[in-house]
Amino acid sequence: MRIDVVSIFPDYLAPLELSLVGKAVQSGLLELTVHDLRAWATDRHRTVDDTPFGGGAGMVMRPDVWGTALADVLTPEATLVVPTPSGETFTQRVAESLALEPQLVFACGRYEGIDARVAEHHRAAGGTVRELSIGDYVLNGGEVASLVMIEAVARLLPGVIGNPESLVEESHGEAGLLEYPVYTKPPTWEGLDVPEVLLSGHHAKIARWRRDRALERTLERRPDMVEALDPSVLDKADRAL
Ligand code: SAM
Repeated sequence: MRIDVVSIFPDYLAPLELSLVGKAVQSGLLELTVHDLRAWATDRHRTVDDTPFGGGAGMVMRPDVWGTALADVLTPEATLVVPTPSGETFTQRVAESLALEPQLVFACGRYEGIDARVAEHHRAAGGTVRELSIGDYVLNGGEVASLVMIEAVARLLPGVIGNPESLVEESHGEAGLLEYPVYTKPPTWEGLDVPEVLLSGHHAKIARWRRDRALERTLERRPDMVEALDPSVLDKADRAL
């Protein structure tokens, strides 16, 4: 996969050089380029914004600067991702769908956002545009939102996570549940013991215990997820809970 990020603060994306995403880039599993939007500004102050038509506070990012930047960066098969608090909510399902794309281009807004014609123009030209929100709150810019989405997508790419088994039982995975609590050594810490069943070596009992705790936790913290479950995925023991 190829990912391009366009921002007026390219340094904000430096964490992408670290950890698993950084390694994926180094090993060639992921091609990643961060671009400075100001490289496409044409005046001597490298202006990328202007006052909003209709009045009001703040500045809006200019469509002409974004237009030339995206014309250079987007390939015909690219998906343009526009982070915005007014977008569709970014979820694990969205991450899974983005992970199948050959190229993602993240357009990081600042100020009051990007002139609405940029997304409109790319849609009208037949391009795929995903306007996505990482949650119901407002950040100062699209860089942090892009970091969140890129990390969630990159870890789904084949080879990025050393043991792909770790993806199977995760929260928000195929089971539609939150993950069960996890423990490691030492078996007793601060007077708290690891649940005995996890030390038993009895695989079926451990699997049942984990399933029960996942269901309990999801019921308690995210009843909306339990309501959304297809009843046919629940077994008899699940229903007893
Ligand atoms: N005026 C906009 C509004 O009320 O919808 C908010 C603009 S915000 C200050 C500036 C930029 O931050 C946005 O263009 C977007 O790129 C990014 N941003 C802020 N909150 C976000 C969120 N929840 N999800 C994704 N991007 C966000």
